[in-house]
Amino acid sequence: MPNTTIHTGRHFLQIPGPTNVPDRVLRAIDMPTIDHRGPEFAQLGHEVIDATRKAFRPKKPVIIYSSSGTGAWEAAMVNTLSPGDKVLMAETGQFSTLWRALVQKMKVEVDFLPGDWKRGADANQIEEKLREDKDHKIKGVMVVHSETSTGAVTDIPAVRKAIDNAKHPALLFVDTISGLASIEYEHDKWGVDVTIAGSQKGLMLPPGLGFNAISDKALAAHKASSAIRSYWDWGDIVEANKSGSWPYTPATNLLYGLKEAIAMLNEEGLDNVFARHKRHGEAARAALAHWGLQNQCADPKAYSPILTAIVMPDGHDADQFRKVVLDNFDMSLGAGLGKIKGKVFRVGHIGHFNDLMLMGALSGVEMALDLAKVPHRSGGVVAAMEVLTGRGATQASRAVA
Ligand SMILES: *Cc1c(COP(=O)(O)O)cnc(C)c1O
Repeated sequence: MPNTTIHTGRHFLQIPGPTNVPDRVLRAIDMPTIDHRGPEFAQLGHEVIDATRKAFRPKKPVIIYSSSGTGAWEAAMVNTLSPGDKVLMAETGQFSTLWRALVQKMKVEVDFLPGDWKRGADANQIEEKLREDKDHKIKGVMVVHSETSTGAVTDIPAVRKAIDNAKHPALLFVDTISGLASIEYEHDKWGVDVTIAGSQKGLMLPPGLGFNAISDKALAAHKASSAIRSYWDWGDIVEANKSGSWPYTPATNLLYGLKEAIAMLNEEGLDNVFARHKRHGEAARAALAHWGLQNQCADPKAYSPILTAIVMPDGHDADQFRKVVLDNFDMSLGAGLGKIKGKVFRVGHIGHFNDLMLMGALSGVEMALDLAKVPHRSGGVVAAMEVLTGRGATQASRAVA
């Protein structure tokens, strides 16, 4: 039995965000802080603004905030809506639930389409609601692309189609905080009006940067909105960005990191990044199916490439299990959030990640299932290896493919 107080080797951070930061990014951040109004900063400012636009692939500006993802949620709201407005949101899990609470605090009314936390948002339900809204009271449709609490991905083009089918003018807001740079995503092509993202998940940075990608329609809504805002105002930031600066002190060192992280993503190629995450998701699910445990996401079409949320069998507590994993193997797994706390644990396979890191994570889980006497069929790690080496997918992963 390993010593549980002294750990050797690297800690395994397998939560679905914050994710592991590559050494290259850490080295890039490890710089003296510079004058954010000097010429050296302006060059960095222009470089990251350009690079970020290439990574998000939109035509319009991407706003970079010194904030968590939650700040970028708030920014999206206060720039486009006004108190008293109404929006339609889909309950996909804990993050959609938190987002709803934030929107309500801004005095915007939320029509919350109920969900069972086992799948993505239902585009048909959204279309139906929008068709009923003859007076166009609904100003925005808000969906979480990658619901990090359940491991379910929402089909954003289907949501766009639902809005178009209903011929409804509502803005489309998408939270892809854990999807950006890890799951296929197209801000312009998919007709998203405001995309909300953060630094500490697929982008492989420490926490501290939030993003809003916006459309022309969102910019027009910005001009019309009467919400009180200052720090979050897109207008001031877009203006300052023209000279490579921000209206206030930006997170200089994180911007060094952002430049390096985007360079790494470009070297690999975004499409390869997406394919890598998909393959790791498939391998993780092969282990899960072999163990005989259940996936929190019940819709194979919505299975997440970036995390696997595993349901604990009755009589076993997920947080107790995570403690066994941490104490014995120095690995952090994601907790069940909100109403599935203690019932689910999450294995992150997102960001700076490779085959052996996945095998290490899955081995830790399988060894801990043994130690914690959680009923399972051993050999899940072998099933995952077979997916990675291409020696025939397991029954479960074949059903998915
Ligand atoms: C992490 C996450 C958030 C919250 O981001 P913070 O940086 O913690 O504010 C919101 N939505 C989703 C989908 C997330 O994964």
